[in-house]
Amino acid sequence: MTMIKKNKQSDGKRVVIVGGGIIGCLTALYLHRLGAQVTILEKGQAGQEASWAGAGILCPIHPWLYPDSFSHLVDASLSLYPGMHEMLMEMSHTSIQWRKSGLLIPLFEDDRIEHRQQALAWSKRFHWQVEELDAAQCKAHEPCLNDQVAGGLLWPDVRQVRNPRLLQAVKQALETCGVMIREQAEVVAVQQSSSGHINAVSLANGERVEADAVLLAAGSWSGELASQIDLTLPIQPVKGQIVLLKDQPGTVNHIIKHDDAYLVPRSDGHILVGASMEYVGFQRGTTDTVVEQLLDATYKIAPGLKKAKIIQQWMGFRPGSPDGLPYLGPVDGHPGLWVASGHYRNGVVLAPGTADIISRWIMGEKPKIDMSDFRIQRPCFQHDSLGFPARQIMAAS
Ligand SMILES: Cc1cc2nc3c(=O)[nH]c(=O)nc-3n(C[C@H](O)[C@H](O)[C@H](O)COP(=O)(O)OP(=O)(O)OC[C@H]3O[C@@H](n4cnc5c(N)ncnc54)[C@H](O)[C@@H]3O)c2cc1C
Repeated sequence: MTMIKKNKQSDGKRVVIVGGGIIGCLTALYLHRLGAQVTILEKGQAGQEASWAGAGILCPIHPWLYPDSFSHLVDASLSLYPGMHEMLMEMSHTSIQWRKSGLLIPLFEDDRIEHRQQALAWSKRFHWQVEELDAAQCKAHEPCLNDQVAGGLLWPDVRQVRNPRLLQAVKQALETCGVMIREQAEVVAVQQSSSGHINAVSLANGERVEADAVLLAAGSWSGELASQIDLTLPIQPVKGQIVLLKDQPGTVNHIIKHDDAYLVPRSDGHILVGASMEYVGFQRGTTDTVVEQLLDATYKIAPGLKKAKIIQQWMGFRPGSPDGLPYLGPVDGHPGLWVASGHYRNGVVLAPGTADIISRWIMGEKPKIDMSDFRIQRPCFQHDSLGFPARQIMAAS
């Protein structure tokens, strides 16, 4: 593994990570490689929340709606995927199914969202290879598409991973190198010394866990914890439901994104259909209405999928910040406290980038890219001004 070298001078820094999702677990692994003494505290089972539920598309949905700083972070993170993949393979012997399947946005006459110009301009600016397809080329690439398709945009290099396997690989790697994940360990408070330095967390069972640094990586729940030390971290859960279909392998070849749904084909014939965007707090469970909406949208994109078997449905809570950008870095006024949370729809895309930047930063190495748009105490923008969906139950856009 060549990606991260152990830094002997930093040996022994005790870092407690609150939250065992992809962000907490991967950052723990990177911190360990830098010589920190890491403990992950997880209130339930590690890797069972948003990070397990996600679709694993390694490209943000509509990145052109975000500020440029976000695209720079995305590029930095995706550039670390090959090294992370190699490391996980070596340490866990688990394939995360990191593979190139391309992303296709088919265009129809009655599209609700107009992408073409913005998408092309963004791709050119950020050097993402994109091809404009006519109707016939679209059907040739993806025969499952509705005959009404008028054309499309294809990003051939977009990749995907299979989330549960990613989490399994990271957890196995942590075990291999002896990093402790304490499950059923709910953090209820962050504690500070008389000088104001964060020096411990308290668990629901009354136990105190001492630390030189505490990283808040509790996904959708990070805001609740932050409020206990009067820190405003306006992260709220954005529920997403997914339906899993099964057809012959090769029925769908690319990730297909259209107005109200996306399809993510796995190599074994499973097809994920996602995902709703619901502001319903922490209400768990799937609902017939949303499942029907997702299936209707699927059959509009690819009518032939009506014959695919419906296998399963699930949901997860995306940690949504008001502007869709993650909060990353140290907390002003609370030395020793760090945040890596609020990754919204992009936590898997941004996981290696977050883990790399935050682990180095905690160990004393400042980021090489401008992180000011991701600072914790930044002003709050509204979703709507950036073209985000209105705060109501709706399928993916
Ligand atoms: C349906 C859906 C589809 C998605 N698709 C994609 C996609 O295609 N690509 C992509 O990049 N992203 C996608 N995402 C977003 C991505 O999954 C998230 O951004 C990412 O998983 C967030 O990771 P996390 O570790 O911050 O949060 P989580 O995975 O939610 O982990 C947070 C952990 O913290 C724990 N915790 C909370 N409070 C406490 C506490 N007090 N004490 C101890 N532990 C605590 C929780 O139990 C949880 O395990 C999707 C999300 C969903 C729901």
